[in-house]
Amino acid sequence: MIISKDNMGALADAIGATQTVYVPGTERAATRFVAHKKGEPVVLGGANVRMPPKDLLFPATEKMYRWKKHEGQLSLETEAAAHEPFTVLGVRPCDMASVAKLDLVFLTKGFVDEFYQARRDAATFVAVTCVDPDGDCFCEAMGVRLDAAPAADVLLVDRGGAYEAKPQTEKGEAAVAAWAEALGAGADAAAGDAVEAHCTLNPAAAKAEERLRAEDFDNVWHSVADYCLTCGTCTFECPTCYCFDISQDVRADEGARFRCWDSCMFTQYTLMAGNHNPRADRASRVRQRFMHKLRYFADRYGEGLCVGCGRCIRDCPAGVDIAAIIDAVATAPEHELTEAARTVQADEAKKEAAHV
Ligand code: SF4
Ligand code: SF4
Repeated sequence: MIISKDNMGALADAIGATQTVYVPGTERAATRFVAHKKGEPVVLGGANVRMPPKDLLFPATEKMYRWKKHEGQLSLETEAAAHEPFTVLGVRPCDMASVAKLDLVFLTKGFVDEFYQARRDAATFVAVTCVDPDGDCFCEAMGVRLDAAPAADVLLVDRGGAYEAKPQTEKGEAAVAAWAEALGAGADAAAGDAVEAHCTLNPAAAKAEERLRAEDFDNVWHSVADYCLTCGTCTFECPTCYCFDISQDVRADEGARFRCWDSCMFTQYTLMAGNHNPRADRASRVRQRFMHKLRYFADRYGEGLCVGCGRCIRDCPAGVDIAAIIDAVATAPEHELTEAARTVQADEAKKEAAHV
């Protein structure tokens, strides 16, 4: 199905007749996905939104359950419930790749987060091929293609003045069929060739991951810690950061537990009872953030945790640049091996010796 770019507003109106549809816009002083208002124009090109669609699946603050004490009895009521269907229109390939990573965290390895799952099941994601990467984007270096978004239900391929809507899931098939019916002749448009684009930034991510497995880079973490403010902006804007804290609001005999985004850049993130803090110094927190993005997540899930969206580079008030750090690690002169790598090498040497 081919839809003229001029008809994106009409498409959002049609989807919005039966469910909430989120489109790129501006709200609370930042570009983000906002609920579409009937009759307003929708433009999917241009710079990516500052805040990723993460909060539509994993809100910054979310009530989990309530409790009540009555005549000595305690009752619990969960807030997890089926979510009303909604559509997110115009998600870039990098942000769609981040949804696939959140799925790994919240829905695999024997854990199912019922709050996340309710929203994920209710969501229809309509991705759009990216023809406007900016100078801080490096998604291709992180294995994302600008012309593909396999986790999306529908992919809109930019063909000049029009988009070709390609369904990729059963939910996507149903959505595109409904759009064709709703738009009728309005869906017809002349389509040109698919527009091709590439990132200009291309840090050596594979090499950096390999070296982070074998060497210490304490000099890198300490030099970044000299200017990082540990403000947490990078983690809150990141489409793949998923850490949260659980707190409670208690009022007399009733209360509620809620969770809210947390950041590994904060001192209190790892503060334990007894006042012990394994990551009390800034360099250890900087190390944790980059090691999680570039190595630890790959150890657990087989792929890295950065999709190269560039947000943390664009908005870091101190100028911390993950792409430059990746290259610094990839091209640094040989370092001392880490203790872990030394142990692995010693074990392998022992095994080899045993075979001789
Ligand atoms: S946004 Fe920059 S200054 Fe703030 S915590 Fe992240 S790296 Fe540090
Ligand atoms: S670490 Fe930075 S570049 Fe990578 S996904 Fe997060 S915000 Fe985007």
